[in-house]
This record gives sequence, structure tokens and C-alpha cells, in this order.
Amino acid sequence: MDDATEALVAEARAFLAQHWKGPLTALEDTRAWLAKVVEHRWAVLRWPTEWHGRALPDDAARAVEREFHAVAAPGSGQDRTNLWANTLLAGGTDALKQKLILPLLRQEVGMCLLYSEPGAGSDLAGIRTRAEKRGDHFVVNGQKVWTTNAATADYGMLIARTNWDVPKHAGISFFFCPMKQPGIEVRPLHQITNERNFNEVFLTDAIVPAENLLKNLGDGWRVLQTALAYERLVMGVRARGARSGAAEATTEEPLIALAREAGRLKDPILRQDIAQAIAYRRLNALNTARAQAELTQGSSSSLMSLGKLAMSRILHGEARVRTAILGPGSLFEGPDYPRAEDANFLTLNAYFTSIGGGTDQIQRNIIGERVLDLPKEPEVDRTVPFREVKIGR
Ligand SMILES: Cc1cc2nc3c(=O)[nH]c(=O)nc-3n(C[C@H](O)[C@H](O)[C@H](O)COP(=O)(O)OP(=O)(O)OC[C@H]3O[C@@H](n4cnc5c(N)ncnc54)[C@H](O)[C@@H]3O)c2cc1C
Repeated sequence: MDDATEALVAEARAFLAQHWKGPLTALEDTRAWLAKVVEHRWAVLRWPTEWHGRALPDDAARAVEREFHAVAAPGSGQDRTNLWANTLLAGGTDALKQKLILPLLRQEVGMCLLYSEPGAGSDLAGIRTRAEKRGDHFVVNGQKVWTTNAATADYGMLIARTNWDVPKHAGISFFFCPMKQPGIEVRPLHQITNERNFNEVFLTDAIVPAENLLKNLGDGWRVLQTALAYERLVMGVRARGARSGAAEATTEEPLIALAREAGRLKDPILRQDIAQAIAYRRLNALNTARAQAELTQGSSSSLMSLGKLAMSRILHGEARVRTAILGPGSLFEGPDYPRAEDANFLTLNAYFTSIGGGTDQIQRNIIGERVLDLPKEPEVDRTVPFREVKIGR
């Protein structure tokens, strides 16, 4: 470590010693802490100084982030993990950045992703929601679906078609769409996990200010690739844990703790399965760390697809092992059977990672084409003006 980095690490340590008071439970406390981290320029160390960063090289930034990690203080490293703020920095107008970057870093605005439509999921470039320019704003009409957190969001990152006379990827634009307006109706969808986090979103003459367009008109597909890379990166690194919080309550590997509690830690087959599950998690953490190191601001990386696909397989694999440990007891559910409740939730929730953010099959296609250099899938509509693309009814 050079002298400058050592001095910086000492400064970060002093900041943490003075301000960090341990785990945050209430949302207001989290926001107050994040505001402090941003104010002292620890949140986005690699970003330019005019946008609350320190323009640091990656190794110096990592040295500081390790200090935050060591005391479990959140808020640093957002230049790698904050999907919304990174997408905005990469493509937003100065007016929009002035308005939203700080609130995004402090988690003061709710966000959602307005990408998928009833007729466009894996084939996202086939979207039909349209945005038309009228003076100083765009008017948006169409429907989105599976929109996580739309009911509480203040803004949605929206892709909409702005040109129907060019091939499908070229006619898309990317916006920050205000969600709280009469032109937007949100209808919750009931999930298999008995939650209602995602929604249908109907846009009827919804208004988006022109300054909320990212990059230029028709550049939406490029902006989307950056945004998807950050989303896949986060999904490859982290997944939601059990609703009971049981795993967080122990420092032991959760599967080992469960097997110990169930009296099955000596079962040789289970031991092998648990060891494999833990090995896969560790290996994926190393792989995503490599992918993170390669992701520079505003770029995208197909290595994120490897991490996300691996995490999906890991979650399904762990769900199988967890169920095997519990045996017939896994068939119970409800508050009287918290371990079975957790096992069933985690089994069903594993599909979040294998479908959301692009399915496993789509990640395999990306890996095949961009990592392994295999031939591309045939795409008959790639060069045809979107208006002329044939669709089934
Ligand atoms: C929990 C959850 C949260 C989500 N949150 C959001 C959100 O916030 N915002 C948002 O916009 N979307 C969200 N989604 C939607 C998600 O991105 C889409 O469901 C996903 O991209 C798949 O699209 P689809 O459902 O239309 O399936 P389809 O595209 O119709 O795919 C159906 C099946 O065909 C396979 N398939 C399709 N094309 C190919 C191909 N070329 N090669 C091989 N197999 C293929 C798919 O892998 C899949 O198995 C969420 C989904 C889930 C499950």
C-alpha cells in the first residue's frame, strides 16, 4: 500500500471510529448514516469529485471499502453496487443528476425497473410501450409487467420506443419516469411466496420531462446494457435470505447450523452436499469479485451473467439440500415450523434470481456468445424496421 492510500485508510478508520455506532435498524437511521457517508465522500470513491467522489483508483477505493466492511458499516462502494445512481451518472443530464444523485445515494427515493412487457421479456428489444416528444416533455403509453416495488417507487427506469422506423434495438430510449402521477396505474400481482412485491403498470398519457431522457434519443439499448450489468452484478453477489432471519442470527454456515439442529450433521451424503454448496458460494464470490474489478463506470460485462447464473444454480442447489436436511418435516409450514417455513420460502424465492434480470437460459446465451465465442442465435427481425416486424396474436 502506498503512502497516500495508507493516509486515506487512516482517515476512513478515524471517521468510522468517530461516527459508526453499530447496526442500523430504523430506515431514518440508515438514511442519516448514508447522508454522513456521502457528505464525507466515502460513498462513491471512484466517481469524479464534482459528483461526491474522490476520483480514486480501484485499489485505493477497495482499501477504504475494506475498512467499512470490517465494521459492517454500509454506504461505501456504491460506485459498484448502486444500480440507479450508476446508471444516472453514466447517462443522465446534468439537471437530472443535480436533482437525483444525492437522494439516490442516501436511499431517499424509491425506484423500480419499467422494462418487461406482456409481449417482451427475454426479447426486451421487442417492447411496444411508446414515448412521443411534445415540446418539453414526452408522453408515454403502454403496459409494463413484473415491476418490483412499483407501488412505492418515486421513479421508474423506463425503456420505451421512440422510433418505429428503425430496427428494434435502435428505436428505444431510456428515461427516469416519475411514478406518482395520474397517467400511471399500478396493480399488484400475488406471488407464489404469498407476497405482493411486483406489479402490472399501466401508462396512459404519462408525462416524462425531456430532461429525464438518458443519453440521446434512440440510445436506450446502450444505457440498458449498463443498467443490466449492475443489476446482474448485484444479483450475482447477493440474494435475499430467509424471512425469519435465522441465518443472520448465527455466525455458522446456515446449512451446517440447520443440519446440526436437525441432528443430521454426521450424514455422509448430506455432508458432501453441504460442502459442495459452500464451495460453490465461495467460488462465485471470487468470480464476481473479478467481474466487479473489470466493470468500469458506464461499461457492461458479460462476466456478470456468469455470476448471476451461478447464484441462481447455487440458490436452487441450497434449497434442495435444505429440504433434504429437514426431510418430511419440510412439508410443514407456518409460524410453528420456522425451519420448514424458511426452507419453502427459499425454495420458491430461488426463482427470483433464475428469472428476474434475465432468465438462466438468456444468461447461458450471453455466456455462449460473448464469453465462449459461439455462433449467435438466429434473429430474423434484427435488421428490419420495427414497424414491419411480424408478431403472433
Ligand atoms: C421475481 C421477479 C421480479 C421481476 N422484476 C422485474 C422488474 O422489476 N422489472 C421488470 O421490468 N421485469 C421484472 N421481472 C421480469 C423478468 O425480467 C422477466 O420475467 C424475464 O426477463 C423473462 O421474461 P418473460 O417472463 O416474458 O419470459 P419469456 O421471455 O416469455 O420466456 C419464457 C421462457 O422461454 C425461455 N426463452 C425465451 N427466449 C429464449 C431464448 N432466446 N433462448 C432460450 N430460452 C429462451 C426463457 O428462458 C423462459 O424460460 C421480474 C421477474 C421476476 C420473476
